[in-house]
Amino acid sequence: MNSKPTFVPGRKCSWKPRCWNMILGNVPLVQFLKQSLTDLLGSAGERNLETAAYVVSGASHSGKSRCLELFCQRLACRNRDPNNLDPCGKCLSCTNKEGQGSNEGLWSMMNEWGGGTGNSFMNVDASELGGRADVTGILERARDLDGPHPIVVLDEAHRIGMKKLDEMFLIPIMQYKCIWFFVTTYPEHFEQMFQNRLIRLQTTPPTEKELAGWIADRCDELGMPWNPEAVIIIVQRTGRIPGLALKALNEAALSKDGLTLEFAESWSPN
Ligand SMILES: [Zn+2]
Repeated sequence: MNSKPTFVPGRKCSWKPRCWNMILGNVPLVQFLKQSLTDLLGSAGERNLETAAYVVSGASHSGKSRCLELFCQRLACRNRDPNNLDPCGKCLSCTNKEGQGSNEGLWSMMNEWGGGTGNSFMNVDASELGGRADVTGILERARDLDGPHPIVVLDEAHRIGMKKLDEMFLIPIMQYKCIWFFVTTYPEHFEQMFQNRLIRLQTTPPTEKELAGWIADRCDELGMPWNPEAVIIIVQRTGRIPGLALKALNEAALSKDGLTLEFAESWSPN
């Protein structure tokens, strides 16, 4: 039972946090989302959260989108135990992957879950959007979202352009029943937006120790040899950004010797 996995060079580390305890860093964001889940699940879906709009900021690849995805998944999950804030990972809603990974047309870029609770979500990557017509389409779709707590996540929101966001989204964020999350690496662009209706949520990186422990654990899972000094170098070169550490792991996995000191010293995140 305890046999170590064999290291197969090139095997990717497809790790993804499936519950809140597996999230690295992101402390203020996770605290906020867990508290919101406690409020929303505890009210058995009867309480309506007031229309709210948030700007979620933090470095690229820091895990903020995954936090929001977990939040949406839990609200759609068929597990009705209000004390369990993790998505079950097994129900119809949690396992529904329809529409993901496709690039056909505007709407297939959105991952929508629902089914179980009748709650719906829209996750749009604004960097893949075109002109005004695309934005109009998002707003039309957002207006029609169903469920007690429909959610719109707009990743890379600054890509839409501040003027256009301010002009086109102000009325929807005040009047539609959605909870809005504008995700960005440039929170300063959102000053004075929407007549200051945005509530700010920030992310934080994990500690060096947390990230180092995480890298070592992933190497062990892959059966990949690792050098303790190499781990520290990777932690420092990533600026403690988990997504970049994952990138380093996958590049190390391509070499037959794994995470060696030599690999770490020549690795850069760009
Ligand atoms: Zn579930």
